Amino acid sequence: MAGNAGKGWVLDFSRDGKRSTWIEVPAGRGKPPVRLAITIVRNGPGPGVLFTGGNHGDEYEGPIALMKLIRELEPKDLVGGTVVIMPMINPPAIAAGTRTSPLDGKNLNRVFPGKARGTVTERIAHTITTQVLPHVETVYDLHAGGVAAMIAPSVMFHKLRSKPLMARTVAAMEAFRAPVGIMIKEFESEGMLDTTVEKLGKVFGCCELGGAGMTTPETVGVTETGIRNLMIHLGIMKGRLKTPVWMGKRQTRYLEALSYGCYADAPAAGIYEPFVELMDKVKKGQPIGQVHSPKAPGRPAAVCKAPRDGVVFMRHAFGLIRKGQKVATIAQETKGW
Ligand SMILES: [Zn+2]
Repeated sequence: MAGNAGKGWVLDFSRDGKRSTWIEVPAGRGKPPVRLAITIVRNGPGPGVLFTGGNHGDEYEGPIALMKLIRELEPKDLVGGTVVIMPMINPPAIAAGTRTSPLDGKNLNRVFPGKARGTVTERIAHTITTQVLPHVETVYDLHAGGVAAMIAPSVMFHKLRSKPLMARTVAAMEAFRAPVGIMIKEFESEGMLDTTVEKLGKVFGCCELGGAGMTTPETVGVTETGIRNLMIHLGIMKGRLKTPVWMGKRQTRYLEALSYGCYADAPAAGIYEPFVELMDKVKKGQPIGQVHSPKAPGRPAAVCKAPRDGVVFMRHAFGLIRKGQKVATIAQETKGW
């Protein structure tokens, strides 16, 4: 078995009340187990939702909002159903402040559904897949751009073959009321939690809530409001949906990024100077930033150009950039799905 609830407490998703415990995942001979915090809040039968944060260890809106939710949410707040909260599903990466695990170098969001006898990161994925996912119908995984990138606070989703599942996925995205809802095509979907949940026929939303290895009051506000909105939408809580403020505005805009042509790569390594901000409109060929070479201060900077007309959905955030690293995602505005 890849994981056990700590302190003699068995994970029980059918009992009413609020319980917090740790799932212990073996990290290998002679090493202490990795402990996954999990809180289950249940009030009778009803829908089940799982919120996960800290999939990558340098993204913070999810862990902050979910630790606050653990302290605040009580069974009496629910009209029926179960809320499962896992604020940091990759604790070694959180402790190190890194995207990937320092224990085995793996990216948790590329090893799902995981392996019972794999490395510790693969075992974490396997534990979540086998012990938690069977108990919920909806999963919202809370991400951000990490140290490297800034992303317009958004719910990302994928085009799915099943029309009923697609309709439920879009409805959940709309209810979250993030500043952006975006349909995206992944070019390396293998191993993502997204893909595992979607294959199980469950509703999945990947939130990208900010970035640059930090949070702002607005990005945390978007996260907390969205979590609450989703619980109301699913019928687990009573209340009215609210629209959070971002950049002084209260609206959700719908975007699509469905081809390689949406991404601009750095033409050289060096120090990155952005010319555009999130949600700026750009034209194809427009300079969106440039890279200065510390090795040749007198040489003209290498200019990065918008690959197409659209809106800046993601931009590089960290000062240094590697050749070929993404400098921006230029998405196309749409009226909805
Ligand atoms: Zn992430």
